[in-house]
Amino acid sequence: MKEACRKFSDAEPFPQVSKVCRTSTYTKSMKTPNSFIEPAALQLLLSISVVCNLEPVLGVPSQEIVRANVPWGYGNNSGGGYLGPDYWTNLPGGTSCGGSRQSPINFVTMSATRRNYEKDRLFFDKHGKSPIDEKWTFVNNGHSVQLTTFYKAGERPELQQNSLNGIYVFDQVHFHWGSDDKFGSEHLVDGSAAVLELHIVHSLRNASNEEINQRRDGLAVIGILFEIGNFDNPKLESFVRNLERVAQPGSSINNAVLAGHTLKDLIPSNKTFFRYMGSLTTPPCTENVVWTVFTQKQKISLDQLAVFRTVLANNELEHNATVSPVPVSDNYRPPQPLNGREVFLFVDGASSLSICQKLLALITLLDSVINLLYSRKVFGSSI
Ligand SMILES: [Zn+2]
Repeated sequence: MKEACRKFSDAEPFPQVSKVCRTSTYTKSMKTPNSFIEPAALQLLLSISVVCNLEPVLGVPSQEIVRANVPWGYGNNSGGGYLGPDYWTNLPGGTSCGGSRQSPINFVTMSATRRNYEKDRLFFDKHGKSPIDEKWTFVNNGHSVQLTTFYKAGERPELQQNSLNGIYVFDQVHFHWGSDDKFGSEHLVDGSAAVLELHIVHSLRNASNEEINQRRDGLAVIGILFEIGNFDNPKLESFVRNLERVAQPGSSINNAVLAGHTLKDLIPSNKTFFRYMGSLTTPPCTENVVWTVFTQKQKISLDQLAVFRTVLANNELEHNATVSPVPVSDNYRPPQPLNGREVFLFVDGASSLSICQKLLALITLLDSVINLLYSRKVFGSSI
């Protein structure tokens, strides 16, 4: 995760944090009129209701401030000015990379504390808004490709959740990926990596940089994992094609028109996510991030992933001048110790609820058929 490189001015006054409380509809929707249901069917229905009211078990998942003139990278060596993660604690100026609340981590699904998403939903407010003239800035900073943009007044995307202590505004997007199909993401799920991880960085609205750095939750970062799909992901295509324009080290463009595409395109439909308190995943590893990492993976084709792998590292930042540019690929930090931190798993039961609703509908239909047959029999015998 890269720290927000700049703060955007925001004309709106400091917000009174609105606590948005939504009553869960999960239980309500399980209630079914029982006046037409046979006792046996009702018993079955109640049993299913009990089962369905349990939080669904997930399927078994299958793994910066950039300081100019301070060299760091992702390799295992310390030579040639190319400092890998093992050496980040020694960087000039000091870092928090040896702290006790570092990121990324490996999520262990069975060990996570479960929360019902319906009772504490994430609100992506205005993430579906298009930026001004639909233009984005792409920067190859030598460690990743970072995207920023500007929105009309009042249209900048905001992130809210009842359990978050503030409103967060969108800052930037960037990616982490691997050189092969086995690795790429920073966060692991039950020991497995994804091929790519997208970070959408939000910072506390109307807070100073000092406050953002000092608070444990100064930044709210959304992590989205990707898996290989058989087809190009159309929602990713415009992003990917503009990557080709910043493949060279240190290059940037500020006129990438992503017509019709918004941040909302990148966010999974199922909102089940892991939550924990952590840090930037790059130097200086500031421990000021509340992390949200979705479990539902988005798709990316091998062709699209290949474009990411053509992006080259900034030679001046990561290597001495005599070394040729190398792919940025493998720009992920290894998982860090949990050190007793609690990890939460917010479970979005929408998909399971749908299955339950189908079961209930089937039972209701069967009951109606039985009732109909029984009525005909009784009616027939009375003649
Ligand atoms: Zn990142």
